[in-house]
Amino acid sequence: MRMKLIYPSWPKLERQTEFHLPPHGPVVFAATVPEEVDLTFTDENREPVDFDEQVDLVGLSVMLTCQMPRAFAIADAYRAKGVKVIFGGIATMLHAEEAALHADSVFLGEAEGRFGQVIEDFKAGKLKPLYDYLRVHPDINLVGTARRDILKRDLYNYRGVQMVDLVHASRGCKFNCFPCCTSYLGGRVFRPRPIDKVVEELESIPNNRLFIVDNSLAQDKEWLKDLFKAMIPLKKKWVSHPVMYDDEVLDLAAQAGCWYVYQAVFDTSDVIRERIKQLKAHGIGIEGTILLGTDDQDENYVKRLVHFLMENELNIAEFTVLTPFPHTPIREKFEKQGRILSNDWSKYTCDKVVFQPKQMTPEKLQELYYWAWDEFYAEGGYQLKMGNLFKQVIRREMDDGTYRRYNPRQGRVFKREKPAV
Ligand code: SF4
Repeated sequence: MRMKLIYPSWPKLERQTEFHLPPHGPVVFAATVPEEVDLTFTDENREPVDFDEQVDLVGLSVMLTCQMPRAFAIADAYRAKGVKVIFGGIATMLHAEEAALHADSVFLGEAEGRFGQVIEDFKAGKLKPLYDYLRVHPDINLVGTARRDILKRDLYNYRGVQMVDLVHASRGCKFNCFPCCTSYLGGRVFRPRPIDKVVEELESIPNNRLFIVDNSLAQDKEWLKDLFKAMIPLKKKWVSHPVMYDDEVLDLAAQAGCWYVYQAVFDTSDVIRERIKQLKAHGIGIEGTILLGTDDQDENYVKRLVHFLMENELNIAEFTVLTPFPHTPIREKFEKQGRILSNDWSKYTCDKVVFQPKQMTPEKLQELYYWAWDEFYAEGGYQLKMGNLFKQVIRREMDDGTYRRYNPRQGRVFKREKPAV
């Protein structure tokens, strides 16, 4: 049987350079699809969906709330042709009831060890309207190497530079930050993957540069140390969400190839200043992630924050507007206070104000969003600063002999040679 997996398109952040990373959810999901299924994949951010392709089943892999309207439109088009459609992915979990209105089936939760049964049901004409595994996680040992063979790798180059490949070493997050839905998704328990399986996957990726997309690399010191020690011989270079602020861990992270990390900058305190210094001391770059519109921010606060980033010479910064996504603590609060201004999911792109800020008008916050990007990048745009980060990694790769120009005909060029036995 033929299944087509589609990753719907969405608009990128205004002011940010548009480049495309290979998606992660679809390749992780693809590894759970039985081999007998002839699976094809379209990332609609990079190529149009061919609605004339003959398929038996369509899977919509939806990560973001702002992808949902497009996912609904794609599903409606296929169903009008009589093709069955199943929804999955993180945003489907957040919008399950709406998805059900456009789907023959909705899959909630993680698919490892479970999707084979869905295919059996489909073949028997007994596809269920709902497969609900949201609260029951599969055994983490079932998570295998993602199927990156479904990607057309040449679609993920920016001006001849191959974008990072995404990979994960753990699931879940023990924290519960106010704008985040991880807690709702049942992720409050940290679930590390076995390190040998992670290393096996890292070795298989035909790219020396990675984005380790784990929710947080600040959850379990001993596991982190073991993971980074195992990664050192691979000589990969990688980006990640925050790494634990511990000199021993950061030292190992740097040796394991940590290139730069995302650092949330929410105030101008000495704590943040020290974190920035600590990362720099380990040779790790910093991309500041700055959420605009929290209740403690007025116009002056936002301006101070942006100038603080400039004073502390962050490598790059990404500004977003606080967005009350479904099933987050902040949405619950704003709903109680009657501060949600729009439920048009196409506006939930993190660059549009969809709620009533506490200390300014929505229009002022929108204006400050544009101001923040323009001010931070006034003396060198995003591409220039990103280019500098790439120069840093290229230097490190030249030093350790891993620098390669990307050659799509040599898919496994970065694979480490196994020692002879
Ligand atoms: S924002 Fe990150 S660290 Fe906080 S709960 Fe969500 S995933 Fe965890």
